[in-house]
Amino acid sequence: MKIACIDIGGTSIKRLCATAEKGMKLADYRVEGFDSAPTRAAEGFEAIRSAVFDSISALIDTYGCEAIAISTAGTVDWDRGVVTFATAALPGFTGYDIVSDVKAKFGLPVRAINDATAAAVAEHYIDKFSRQSEVVLTIGTGLGSALIRPGKLCAESVTDLHIGHVCFDEEGVPCKCGKRGCIEQYASASALRRMSGEDDLDKVFNDYCSYPTAIETFIKALVKAVKLAFETGVKRVVVGGGVAEIKGWWGGFLGKFPYEMSSRIGRAQLGNRAGALGAAYAALNGQFKNQ
Ligand SMILES: [Zn+2]
Repeated sequence: MKIACIDIGGTSIKRLCATAEKGMKLADYRVEGFDSAPTRAAEGFEAIRSAVFDSISALIDTYGCEAIAISTAGTVDWDRGVVTFATAALPGFTGYDIVSDVKAKFGLPVRAINDATAAAVAEHYIDKFSRQSEVVLTIGTGLGSALIRPGKLCAESVTDLHIGHVCFDEEGVPCKCGKRGCIEQYASASALRRMSGEDDLDKVFNDYCSYPTAIETFIKALVKAVKLAFETGVKRVVVGGGVAEIKGWWGGFLGKFPYEMSSRIGRAQLGNRAGALGAAYAALNGQFKNQ
């Protein structure tokens, strides 16, 4: 089955066509046409909605997709297909019945899932260690954290740990959640951009001497997040999201841990494709409720 997969974030919509069947290993999914388009969130709800429709249309026109899998920022009710809560990053998304809306437009089966859950599902099921519990941290606009238990993929197998909103600096930057100094205000792509004043994060990590404070603060906050993840008792922590693909910081980051711990920290494999692929995997194999 050809599935049009989109991953709606606050900045961009990632999109790809996945050819897969129920029960197939995620590593065997055929992926075509991966790219991204602006979400246009600053222009408001209707602009986001048309950006979403345009992305899906393009995938259907190019690949002849027969189903649609959506990963989106915000809390999603899997059964009803409704975004029950979204931050100001996606204006108008709170209460948005995205599944019905997309279904009405394209007349195809549609599933929607939270983006951090989707990314965690993808990184977990593509991993050779997927038979054990693990925490997947996803560095994106925020810092996602999901604990995944092995076995059947269902609501109970994925738990959002909210590690990104644990306090890192009591006097720190205000967070969208209403608190101050949350970990994700330091260990996320948007935090790195804010701290470095540079939009291109490849450039930041390739030039440590120009951005030592931003890089060190990012690493320190991420180290705290990983240690909190291990406190849940999992054997393994996987770090993913677009930033995880950037070279130049991983060695220094791992060096902050004792070997016994660093040997159990994995780097995610799917980068910015994780959300879209996780949505496809969950649509084919999962039974969720809220995420
Ligand atoms: Zn917060």
